[in-house]
Amino acid sequence: MTAFLKKVQRFSFLFSFIILHQFTAKAQTSSKIEILISKMTLEEKVGQMTNITIGRIATEIGDSIVIDKDKLRDVMLNHKVGSFQNVIGHAYSLQNWHQMLDEIQTVNMKESRLKIPLLYAIDAVHGADYTLGSTIFPHNLGLAATRNTALAKLGAQITAKEVRASGIRYNFSPVLDAGRQALWPRLAETFGEDIYLVTKMGLAEIEGYEGNDLKSINHVAACMKHFIGYSFPTSGKDRSSALIPDITLREFFLPSFEAAVKAGTKTVMVNSGEVNGIPVHANKYLLTYLLRKELGFKGVVISDWEDVKKLTERHRVATSYKEAVFQSVDAGIDLCIVPMDLDFSKYLVELVQEKRIPIARINESVRRVLQLKYDLGLFDNPYVEKEAIKNFGRPEYKNAALEAARESITLLKNDKNILPLAKDKKILITGPGAKSLTTLNGAWTYSWQGTNPKFFSKNHLTIIQAVQQKAKNTSYALGTDFKGGEDEIANAVEVAKDADQIIVCLGEDAYAETPGNIEDLELPENQLKLVIALSKLNKPIIAVFTEGRPRIIRKIEPLLSGIILAYWPGEQGANAISDVLFGDYNPSGKLPITYPKNPNSLVTYDHKYLDEVFESASPQIYSEEFNPQFPFGFGLSYTTFTYSPITFSSSNLSANGTIDIKVTVTNSGKMAGKEAVEMYSSDLIASITPSVKRLRSFTKIYLAPGESKEVTFKLSAKDLAFVGKDLKWVTEPGDFDITIANQKKRLTYVAQ
Ligand code: BGC
Repeated sequence: MTAFLKKVQRFSFLFSFIILHQFTAKAQTSSKIEILISKMTLEEKVGQMTNITIGRIATEIGDSIVIDKDKLRDVMLNHKVGSFQNVIGHAYSLQNWHQMLDEIQTVNMKESRLKIPLLYAIDAVHGADYTLGSTIFPHNLGLAATRNTALAKLGAQITAKEVRASGIRYNFSPVLDAGRQALWPRLAETFGEDIYLVTKMGLAEIEGYEGNDLKSINHVAACMKHFIGYSFPTSGKDRSSALIPDITLREFFLPSFEAAVKAGTKTVMVNSGEVNGIPVHANKYLLTYLLRKELGFKGVVISDWEDVKKLTERHRVATSYKEAVFQSVDAGIDLCIVPMDLDFSKYLVELVQEKRIPIARINESVRRVLQLKYDLGLFDNPYVEKEAIKNFGRPEYKNAALEAARESITLLKNDKNILPLAKDKKILITGPGAKSLTTLNGAWTYSWQGTNPKFFSKNHLTIIQAVQQKAKNTSYALGTDFKGGEDEIANAVEVAKDADQIIVCLGEDAYAETPGNIEDLELPENQLKLVIALSKLNKPIIAVFTEGRPRIIRKIEPLLSGIILAYWPGEQGANAISDVLFGDYNPSGKLPITYPKNPNSLVTYDHKYLDEVFESASPQIYSEEFNPQFPFGFGLSYTTFTYSPITFSSSNLSANGTIDIKVTVTNSGKMAGKEAVEMYSSDLIASITPSVKRLRSFTKIYLAPGESKEVTFKLSAKDLAFVGKDLKWVTEPGDFDITIANQKKRLTYVAQ
């Protein structure tokens, strides 16, 4: 036998051994789970389906959380609760987490009958944001602007390490809802309005959280949020109703969840709102038919916060709490965030005893919860893993947060190349964002609302601090605050008289979920007034926006020479902003949303042809109707990128074939920089009216001045598909325009 054949033989032996080992390990776990289930009482089973908030059994003393042992024993030993979550009011120190988690686990492992380890969950949505001193990344909307999946993955890997180092193994992240309603106060938690972008970035984050081995100290279980339709409320308010036809739901909201299910994501959380008049927590079609049967999801379906109970007085589909429990478990909930009220378990026990819910249905959910606990290694070691602690707060994490923040920054206007600014000019910096740490970090930063800077690390800088480090000749005036104050505007104008250039920091302070509801997307009046007053001085004004959603700026945009959108960029946000302001970093962010110009025209980029053209009576006049402030995908650079004409490996695409689409990008300016290269398709004629264009692929490249790179996108028929009349994906034969930057070329799908 040749050496080569021997090698092949050895390799295939090793491979079969690994597969066999994995198979046996899986079978062993399954049989352990079945044995455990056979020993469990109904109350113990239902306890595994119950999740309570830690506030139910603890208090905060000073800045620490302290467990009330009597309450703990009542909840755990009498009510058999199997999982806990979150914080009371704010983040805790690493030591406090360790001590608290080991304390509850110890009582459980010593005193409970079956010693099933407890599971603890947390909302670590842009860093381990409930542990003091953790690394805080940009929110997902900013990450989507980077068009850099590697950065999203790296941020999630670091978050996973810091969460696990805190002693927690289950993270309620990422949000996979497509952010298609600009008013929605959770837009910043999304990856923007395009479902392809949401899917790519979301998968990268999930890969970073879960990796290949959940037992490893480097990973945590992820949670796909919030299945489904949460992000498209008619009113724009959090937790309100949405009307989404099935055809739209499947094409514009489902693909991110479908891809994440395929990738093996362990858990999913349910939408708190309702779609087409049915609360998702009571929707058996969505939770059991679509999610489980059609997509094949095998993991845990967790309710959102108190949403089973809310089927009664809020949604009004259940006459009592017990009826609500029936509806939600029947619909497909495995684990319920009660989060305080333990009647959930009482009613569920009764429902089983009354034979309204079969015990087999309970066993299914318990099996999934126990499987998750096994996968996370909790049965091997339920306590805080000492070796994970070294993974917390490593110096290189700061660079990752800085890179992510820098790459997210989107330069929206740069009249007469006002930016980058010279460091020796006299600068006035003003506006509510200039001295605020909370507007940089936004929601879920060391507290739910993110509004208490007391818990922020000392080394986080505000924009004024970061700017002053580079430009010594910078003065400050408040101008306005985030609360609507106007008293300081005149003073800011006075101080500005002495400046060459004005930086005005505008946008939104931190908020999360329902408290972030607004009635009007326009930037608050006091901020508009500040810019208008400053503009009278006829000096260049550069606006820096830190905000979770696109506040409308139509009235002041013409007064601004430069506009920087930083989203909620996280702990390194101020450094990233000042790097861009002074040219130490070349911006490359591209809008992950359409930035609207008018509050009553919230239309996404992938709208229909009909939404663009207005026809009047004869003689016919056509005019452009779609007129955003800045389009999806827009973002300037300090250099210029030139695109060659597009070439195809063939201009006919067949059903099973692929074609290579190539373009060469050249940095034709003077500064090195990154460029997100995006490929869009436009279906010219289809049986369901096509979108004007759809993002089909993207990549991010780095080019030195004068350098060129060829970019190749592979395209197959399924990349051009849409959801047809029968609710199935279809690609119809015909012509498609492919657009990359300013280049366009037509191809034909021949379907054979
Ligand atoms: C939010 C979820 C979050 C949960 C647990 C809810 O209010 O909607 O996104 O994961 O609370 O804290």
